[in-house]
Amino acid sequence: MTLNNAFSEEFEFICSDCGKRYSESEAAQVGSFCNSDLCADSMTLLQRVRITPPQEEEIFEEEAESEKEIAVAAAVVEEAKNVAETVEVVAEEKTDNEEEKAQKEENKDEGLGEKEKEVDEAITSAVEEEVEEDKNESLEETIQEDREEIKDEVIEEVKEEVKTPTIKAPKISPVKKERIEVGLGILVCDTSGSMEDYAIEGQRIPKLTLVAGSVARGIWDLVEYMSEFGKERAYIALCGFNKKADVFKDPQGNSFIKSVMEIEKEFSSARNLAEYISNAMKAHQEYVPGNLIKETLLGKQNTKNFTNVTDGLRLAHELKESCLKGDMTPFGGPSNIRAVEDVCLTPEGDSVNVPNIRCLIYSDGSHNYPNKTTITNPFANDETSVLMSAFFGKEDSRGFKQMESIACICPKHGEPGTFLVNNAERYHQLRGLFRMSSGASGFCKYCLPRDV
Ligand SMILES: [Zn+2]
Ligand SMILES: [Zn+2]
Repeated sequence: MTLNNAFSEEFEFICSDCGKRYSESEAAQVGSFCNSDLCADSMTLLQRVRITPPQEEEIFEEEAESEKEIAVAAAVVEEAKNVAETVEVVAEEKTDNEEEKAQKEENKDEGLGEKEKEVDEAITSAVEEEVEEDKNESLEETIQEDREEIKDEVIEEVKEEVKTPTIKAPKISPVKKERIEVGLGILVCDTSGSMEDYAIEGQRIPKLTLVAGSVARGIWDLVEYMSEFGKERAYIALCGFNKKADVFKDPQGNSFIKSVMEIEKEFSSARNLAEYISNAMKAHQEYVPGNLIKETLLGKQNTKNFTNVTDGLRLAHELKESCLKGDMTPFGGPSNIRAVEDVCLTPEGDSVNVPNIRCLIYSDGSHNYPNKTTITNPFANDETSVLMSAFFGKEDSRGFKQMESIACICPKHGEPGTFLVNNAERYHQLRGLFRMSSGASGFCKYCLPRDV
């Protein structure tokens, strides 16, 4: 009998960052976030994997893994060659248009820098993803050479294609130039009592713990990856709703409408931020979990029994409007700001204006307050709705139908901006969802960052 079989559990938990392993009960103790020296402050969500006891199998898997890596790397090279060939053909076809090309030169240059960057980033991330684990140096060299070659050729192709700059560009209004251009992510968290229930069957970890950790980790990604320029201009408003909706208070008692830069200054780590968010959610519930006397006294009037989606949307929409007007001081936020507006191309080729504001509301229940009312959604009347929604629970439930019905359609992909969280894997994607909505950078599942 191997060591693994000594555990009665079928699953174990592994940290994808440092590789530390946990039994199911150990994972529950740390709230499913890695507590190794390396990861203690970073809120890295543990991955649940089935235990595979026999050693031979592990060795076999390792071999298979490296074979797979080589195969993947080879496929990348092959695909790259195909692209290069296509580019050659395209280039040949296009040399006839030399005169036309010269005329368009002026227009091209503007969009080109940006396009070049996009192409470079796309190539870098594609190649890095595939060969990240690869230890085979010579293969890496080959890929690097191919990469350079293909990059040049792809850029040539893009030069041909760029006729007029269609890249999203912020509209600049000279009148309000002195105002700081900002982006705003509004997170509206369900703080009803059911968030204390376990998130995933068989795991003793409350939804609230997992969600607070993922919100914190998503925001902390912005602290770690954004430029200083961006951090100063990316604002995040944290709100909660049950019977009614409010902006959370920070540890000093002020409204939590902060720039990423302020968050970086005020919190020491992702874990520190997660603790604050978890406490703010619990404080918003206005009840003491497990306090039977208080539960009995408050009975049905206890705020934790209510889910007032309408009030959550009302608050979020008012925050959005105040940001568009340039003054969030009525909510304890910044003044003298201006929301950047992007021009976005729809799949049909129409251009729409999208303010650099995102709102994400999530719930694990269905709207039930005020009694016998339906949800009023002020975002539905906007030119472009920036409302995304997430639901924690079953796909066939009333709550999911409601969250689905209020969500926007992604202007770029034509997909609904709604997210169903009903298994461990989906909980893992929350970090990316919260990063995207906090950083006001996307709408739908195709907009999610790929690295989490
Ligand atoms: Zn770790
Ligand atoms: Zn999208």
